[in-house]
Amino acid sequence: MKKLDMLYEGKAKRVYNTDVEDVLIVDYKDDATAFNGLKKGTIVGKGVINNKMSNHVFRLLEKEGVPTHYIEELSDRETAVKKVAIVPLEVIVRNVSAGSFAKKLGMEEGIRFIAPTLEFSYKDDALGDPMINDYYAIAIGVATREEIDIISKYAFKVNDVLCKYFAGIGIELIDYKIEFGRYKGQIILADEISPDTCRLWDIVTHEKLDKDRFRRDLGNVEDAYQEVFKRLGIN
Ligand code: ADP
Ligand code: UDP
Repeated sequence: MKKLDMLYEGKAKRVYNTDVEDVLIVDYKDDATAFNGLKKGTIVGKGVINNKMSNHVFRLLEKEGVPTHYIEELSDRETAVKKVAIVPLEVIVRNVSAGSFAKKLGMEEGIRFIAPTLEFSYKDDALGDPMINDYYAIAIGVATREEIDIISKYAFKVNDVLCKYFAGIGIELIDYKIEFGRYKGQIILADEISPDTCRLWDIVTHEKLDKDRFRRDLGNVEDAYQEVFKRLGIN
């Protein structure tokens, strides 16, 4: 497969067209941003870890019945994926209070919920990705009721699979953001699942092993990404 022109450069990845129809190559960078791009930095080795971790997790999810964009890992940083039309929603699932949820509700971090939550943000950098609900999403035409229902079902399925998987490697899945796209009339999981997009805490010590170390200047950012990678047992 040949990499052609760059279609899009995002904050964490570059996306390229290829000579194969409906196939893109994503190329993961070490660039890190937070607070809607206000804070910028580099996490050395992050691109490799996020690429390999995301692919590992997507292969697991496929096996468990969640369709994904994953086709083939091409190199340490590059993966061939199905070209989707991204549904412009950040789909966020939470199991334990943290981040914006804890702040909004005046709750300390680390309180396990009675049941997981699901929320949507409208993907629009200029607006700062405002939180919306299913009715807003349908009203502004970003998704239909049927699509929202499928997305919600997959989002919770991802949660069931990943909570169990991460617990098995000593990690508590606190919360995460996923994205979906339309591909040949179906909704499939796209983008990435990595320490950039999840909160991952050591199950025993509650040490943060994710991008919060960068956002909050907690130090040992690279070590945290490496620790997660090591526990995945892939290379
Ligand atoms: P951002 O756009 O937030 O800066 P990235 O740097 O991760 O994020 O850029 C990757 C972009 O590619 C995102 O906008 C994401 O929605 C999009 N994307 C992810 N997977 C696919 C796919 N399979 N097909 C088309 N676009 C995708
Ligand atoms: N998240 C993300 N991209 C975003 C916003 C959030 O990947 O643009 C992830 C974040 O890493 C966390 C979850 O979604 O795992 C919930 O984030 P939250 O709403 O608490 O926002 P934050 O505190 O990160 O601003």
